[in-house]
Amino acid sequence: MKALWRTCTWIWRWLVAAWLVWLLPAAAWAHPEPGERPVLTIGVLAIQSAPVEQARWGAVEQALAEALPHYRVQWEFLPYPALDRAISAQHLDAVITNPGHALALQYLVGATPVASVIRQVGGQPLAALAGVAWVRADGPVHQWADLKGRRVAYVSEESLGGRWLQSYELYRRGIDLDAIQWLAAGPSHDGVIDAVLSGKADAAFVRAGVWETRLARGAGDSRALRPLEPQHLPGYPFAASTPLYPDWVVLTLPATSGPVQRDLAAALLAITLSESLRATLPDDAVIGFAPPQSSAAIARVLRTFRVRPFAVPPLTVRERLEAAAWPLAAAGAGLLLVSLVAILLWRQKRRLRQLLQEQAIQARLFDSELGVMIVDAERRILRVNPAFTRITGYHPDEVIGKTPKLLQSGRQDDAFYQSMWDALATKGVWQGEIWNRRKNGEVYPEWLTISAVHGPDGQVRHYVGVFSDLSWRKAAEAQIERLSFQDPLTDLPNRQMLLQRLQAMRVESHEQQTYGALLLIDLDHFHLVNDVYGPRSGDEVLRRCAQRLRDDLQPDDLVARVTSDEFVVLLPARHASSHLAAFAAQAVAERLRSVLREPITLSQGGTVQLTVSIGIAVVGVGGQDRDATDWLKAADLAMQQAKNAGRDVVHFFDPAIEQALAKGFALRQALAQAIDNDELRLYAQPQLDADRRLVGAEVLLRWQRRDGTLVSPAEFIPLAEESGLIVPIGRWVRQQAIATLQRWQARPALAGLRLSVNISAREFAKPDFVELLLQDVAPLQTLARQLELEVTESLFLHNPAAAKAAFMQLKEAGLTLALDDFGTGYSSLSYLQTLPFDVLKIDQRFVAQLGPQDTKSEALVATIIALGRNFGMTVLAEGVETEEQASKLIALGCQQLQGYLLGRPMPLDAFETWATQRQVHPDDTVTTR
Ligand code: C2E
Ligand code: CA
Ligand code: CA
Repeated sequence: MKALWRTCTWIWRWLVAAWLVWLLPAAAWAHPEPGERPVLTIGVLAIQSAPVEQARWGAVEQALAEALPHYRVQWEFLPYPALDRAISAQHLDAVITNPGHALALQYLVGATPVASVIRQVGGQPLAALAGVAWVRADGPVHQWADLKGRRVAYVSEESLGGRWLQSYELYRRGIDLDAIQWLAAGPSHDGVIDAVLSGKADAAFVRAGVWETRLARGAGDSRALRPLEPQHLPGYPFAASTPLYPDWVVLTLPATSGPVQRDLAAALLAITLSESLRATLPDDAVIGFAPPQSSAAIARVLRTFRVRPFAVPPLTVRERLEAAAWPLAAAGAGLLLVSLVAILLWRQKRRLRQLLQEQAIQARLFDSELGVMIVDAERRILRVNPAFTRITGYHPDEVIGKTPKLLQSGRQDDAFYQSMWDALATKGVWQGEIWNRRKNGEVYPEWLTISAVHGPDGQVRHYVGVFSDLSWRKAAEAQIERLSFQDPLTDLPNRQMLLQRLQAMRVESHEQQTYGALLLIDLDHFHLVNDVYGPRSGDEVLRRCAQRLRDDLQPDDLVARVTSDEFVVLLPARHASSHLAAFAAQAVAERLRSVLREPITLSQGGTVQLTVSIGIAVVGVGGQDRDATDWLKAADLAMQQAKNAGRDVVHFFDPAIEQALAKGFALRQALAQAIDNDELRLYAQPQLDADRRLVGAEVLLRWQRRDGTLVSPAEFIPLAEESGLIVPIGRWVRQQAIATLQRWQARPALAGLRLSVNISAREFAKPDFVELLLQDVAPLQTLARQLELEVTESLFLHNPAAAKAAFMQLKEAGLTLALDDFGTGYSSLSYLQTLPFDVLKIDQRFVAQLGPQDTKSEALVATIIALGRNFGMTVLAEGVETEEQASKLIALGCQQLQGYLLGRPMPLDAFETWATQRQVHPDDTVTTR
């Protein structure tokens, strides 16, 4: 133990001795002998040549040497890079440099500011610094903003007064530094000023005072430059474009010991030069030192531009990765989360949709009118729907768990059920009519569909039976019966019902010798209601009118709706004379007229006020030979007369009209015989092109009666159409035309001509029209092209789809198709667009209006022609009667002409002669009758 203690004491003594040995030389350095004074090296940033700098610093150099007698003070004037090198080589104890550099040294090397420099400028002590932007006195630059896009010379990127102070002014004003063309013209401030003087730059950023110092040297013309936006800085002797910032700084470097720093700082601040000495010093000479000033303002400027010491060093790859790691990780995690949520949502949505679908199916099944019964594999009822209960009378709890056998009526035998289950086993479904028994014992027919539902293992899980009660059929039949006598819109009896009642009344009136009346009420201009307010409002108006009629009439009067806007009132035969009946009917009619005239307010807004035209026929004993429809017709005629009389009136059936009708009837009878009696004649009217060459003819029908009178088609065609006779007549005309075309092939003068026939809309509507026509045309083969069919727009009015289909078939057969009377009908452009007509015939009404001055109709005709030609059609004008019309039409681009001027309709054989002669004498334009 003693030995251990001794060893420790020994080690302790040894350590103390070693420490003392190390300490001695250090103590000797700290208190040097007078002969060997320590060296204190001060580095000064040199801006100008060594002699100039020497002159500037000489006085304080001297004074400092005197103030620090224990040191050997050395001054080294070094330009930028050399100064920095000396600092990093730890060759210097202190540095005197500009404030920007000083700040950099504080931040980068750990230098400590100990004093700021006081200069003497214009006899004044000065411890501040400003920047200035010099521009040519006669130049265009007046404001900082004017520098945009201009060339600016500056000292260096390191220079505070020669770059950043001015840049800070630009920055403060929001001027984009990138909008300036920078020109590094340093390191000497004079060089930067030269760039402006020589015109290489538009402005020079230099430290304030440089130019003035140079002028003082006599090296420049003070009028050459002016400062940009000069600042008012009281007491500051130089032109400046920026505010004042602290001037140069003295810093000690970190390797310098504390006592040395203290000695130096105290010595610097103690320096005072005598007045007399200062007077001998040059301008800009350093005359003393003040305590260090805050470098915050300068730091702000340098930080703004991220320049040393605030420059942002480029990040290393690793740093960049590190910096990005968190955001990347966060983004990745976010993405993962979003994807997960999306997947979850999607799956949920899919599940939800499935559920909804299943539910919808179930709901539809269970809410449906059809009875539904779900049975398990052991054929026990699992579920039924309300319709099941409705049809069978069994509540769910009465049937669930039981077998469907309880519904059996006994009408089907076991074999029937066996085959049903067999079908289910093989096909999985059975369908058929089956008689079941309701709970109340009633046996009823049902239409049953059973489907087997299999599980994933292929085994039957359930059977679903869906059935409808077929006993509704009886009810439906009754409903149909009711509908067939009732107008569904107004619930009034319909025409059928009316005729039945009328027939009954006719018998009754005959038996009882009484008279009644039939009133046909037509709503004037009803179509306008539809046009203006739409069909729904139209329906509403009809229902309201029906209601008013019903309300106003006696219970045994009958009111029916017979066509869309026509009502018929049947007043029963109660009157002893036709006069009395007429009298009573008149009274009722007038009353109804005023009732219906009351304005109707539409539920969709708007008010409609209608007038009515009423035709009355007295029904009674007299007209034994008439049937129910004849009475209706009589009332209709009377109503037409009321319309002709200007509407809104009541009119009685007039026997004179009846006579006219009788005449029409006779004519119709005669026309029916006309084909058979060979009374129909074909006339042809020539069609010419613009050069008056014959291109074809239109076939126009004439009826030559036995007495020789010619009946105009304008008179008999409507009659033929109304009676349906137009069908055989039209076919006859076409067959004649086809034969004519064939005959013409042998005659060169006629062989190439087109023959045009008119087709009535009534014919076109016949389902077999196209078929028959194609049959008739077949022998023509390629000549079919020469047969032209003239149709009017009315053709496409009633069943446009069917008409279009027929049209396309004809087109395909090679026939030429012409749109007749264009401009008089509906002239819907859509016809022209969808139906490829070959020829467009301008109606003669337009041609007739082509007078000497009428420019309006001329414009209209021009438009029609342009339209036709745009759709690729040949445009033909009808009814051309004068040369003037012909030349106008040709001038407007019309390609073909037809009319009395060029040839009247003439008997076919006369036309053939005319055409042949014309070939021989083409200039002969004599028209024939
Ligand atoms: P549409 O098809 O417009 O026939 C042209 C009518 O204009 C013909 O009258 C013709 O004689 C007449 N016309 C020709 N040039 C002139 C003229 O320069 N001035 C004047 N004012 N009229 C001229 P038409 O022959 O009396 O025939 C009348 C209508 O009867 C025809 O009009 C046509 O719609 C119909 N029609 C004639 N033949 C038939 C036929 O075979 N079948 C059918 N469905 N309708 C026919
Ligand atoms: Ca025609
Ligand atoms: Ca025509």
